[in-house]
Amino acid sequence: MHLETAAKMIADASSVTILTGAGVSTASGIPDFRSTNGLWTADEAREYYISNHYFYKDPVDFWQKYKDIFRVKLLKDYGPNHVHRYLRDLEVNGKQITVITQNVDGLHTLAGNEHVIEYHGTLNSATCPNCGSSYDLPHLLTAETPVCEKCVHVLKPDVVLFGDPITEHDKAEQAIQQSELVLVLGTSLLVSPFNMLPEYANSLGKPSILINREPTVMDELFDIVIYDDLSKIVQQLQK
Ligand SMILES: [Zn+2]
Repeated sequence: MHLETAAKMIADASSVTILTGAGVSTASGIPDFRSTNGLWTADEAREYYISNHYFYKDPVDFWQKYKDIFRVKLLKDYGPNHVHRYLRDLEVNGKQITVITQNVDGLHTLAGNEHVIEYHGTLNSATCPNCGSSYDLPHLLTAETPVCEKCVHVLKPDVVLFGDPITEHDKAEQAIQQSELVLVLGTSLLVSPFNMLPEYANSLGKPSILINREPTVMDELFDIVIYDDLSKIVQQLQK
């Protein structure tokens, strides 16, 4: 059976790189980006407003839209769920674990994983584009348009905006290179260049497992594919 094989592969690996997506956070009550407020479900609107182009064009309105779109996540009324904790436990139990996540909610770090690559950045901080000073979430919520305390420049979120470069790709590839196993959890692998990482793993001949609710366009890259509820499967893997 697939699940038993997967459990054995995970048990036998001393180093695992884990790629995660929205499916890991939904059990914490965090809606998938795609299913947030009706107004923003249209891809065009979201990509237009949450872009670095719009940030530089109209930073005040940008922040208003940004806070509206990410309202649920910014309220921080949630915490790590048992999927996050399962990944933390793998590390606590002696495996070398790197989590590469598309999620911007910071929950892998909050759960206690030491090596987390936030591939799409984080909602929990922002940086001054002028002087490079960094600010955490409480500061971002104090004013409608958060500005730098040193130079009064409007801050830019540390989330990767549409049009921003991805800066963590090389680091992600390096983690895969150094791992014995690649585990992909709760992502449909539709977003590029993140979805090039399983291809990279495959090109190196790394054993790999995909667990997702639905089939993805990249299923043939994996040794084991399990279509099911991630929370349920993780509970079974823990046994
Ligand atoms: Zn500044």
